[in-house]
Amino acid sequence: MDRDFAERVTRVEPSATIAISNLAAELESEGVDVVDLSVGEPDFDTPENIKDAAKAAMDDGATGYTPSDGIPELKDAIVEKLHDDGLTQYGTENVLVTPGGKQALYEVFQTLIDGGDGRSPSASGTSSRSGDEVVLLDPAWVSYEAMVKLAGGSLARVDTAAHDFDLEPALDDLAATVSDETELLVINSPGNPHGSVYSDAALEGVRDLAVEHDITVISDEIYKEITYDGREATSLGTLDGMADRTITLNGFSKAYAMTGWRLGYFAGPEDLVEQAGKLHSHSVTCAVNFVQHAGVEALQNTDESIAEMRDAFAERRDMLVDLFAEHGKDVPVPEGAFYMMLPVREDDQAWAEEAVEEAAVATVPGSPFGTPGYVRLSYAASRERLREAVERLAEADLL
Ligand code: PMP
Ligand code: GLU
Repeated sequence: MDRDFAERVTRVEPSATIAISNLAAELESEGVDVVDLSVGEPDFDTPENIKDAAKAAMDDGATGYTPSDGIPELKDAIVEKLHDDGLTQYGTENVLVTPGGKQALYEVFQTLIDGGDGRSPSASGTSSRSGDEVVLLDPAWVSYEAMVKLAGGSLARVDTAAHDFDLEPALDDLAATVSDETELLVINSPGNPHGSVYSDAALEGVRDLAVEHDITVISDEIYKEITYDGREATSLGTLDGMADRTITLNGFSKAYAMTGWRLGYFAGPEDLVEQAGKLHSHSVTCAVNFVQHAGVEALQNTDESIAEMRDAFAERRDMLVDLFAEHGKDVPVPEGAFYMMLPVREDDQAWAEEAVEEAAVATVPGSPFGTPGYVRLSYAASRERLREAVERLAEADLL
């Protein structure tokens, strides 16, 4: 049967990060020993106290639906965390708890972005309207683009790769790209896939443009706790003029090694939370009940586990930078998150395919992030596996 799929789904490709990780898993199931540096997932298990909190909550009967926007204890704990980060504008009425940060982003895009009318300009002079404009800083995490497209929005992109993935020197390009037509801008610091932490001066530049052009900014802070060398990632919403135009997005996957639990949230203006809440209640209903209780524990009692993971990631980063340098490869040194951009040849897709087929090392090509000529490595893997990956790539003449 010829199925007529909705145009909105045929506009997007499957997630490149997830596709490569599935491929790696498939090869592994065939007996190939793949070093999988593709998907962004901590290799640590969830801290015991978080697991215990989930088990206790389940035993206590936390198995039914919860209020759609989240259990009060978790919303209180989130507000406390946001206040600790200097985001004092948020109260519980500004928070929506979601099954994963991805769902939070999806709901925000669906709530704010209007699609165009799909018509192209015609000779008859009928004017066409394109979808609301969203500006991304490249390289940008693959799902932003897909979510904008699913909402029918249009994309404008600013390249930071040419500036060593730094935002400050790219501010002029950003200023030339945004306009009064821009609806949303997405900032991700520390960032996936580049690992950069934006300076306060860069964020102030973003603020000035957002205020000038009346733009709402999504600040994706899912890697906020993972920074190195004493660096801290400033939350955009703490800047003067940004309290009411910032949507702060976060999740438990990365800092607390809780990828499979699916828990995240966003905090934003109350009217946005109300509108997004409709979409939320008609689709996912709520995040999983006992998982939300585990989230309270994660926010309140995991400073030590976070510090241990952060130190391990920092050591691995240093080791990888040194190993690549030994092979004559200069890589931009990430300041946060657990990703590294490795410069390869222009055809990064072909390089990544060769790396899997000839060296059994899985990486994600830079192109889907908007940055051809690079691949992304996730160094959330053991030191032995990282060393093995570099050796294999060198042996296959890929460095
Ligand atoms: N934002 C960024 C930048 C990410 O890398 C991810 C990773 N998946 C997410 C949001 C969403 O993560 P999750 O849905 O697991 O909370
Ligand atoms: N964010 C992670 C990554 O970039 C997990 C996979 C995904 O959701 O894209 O690899």
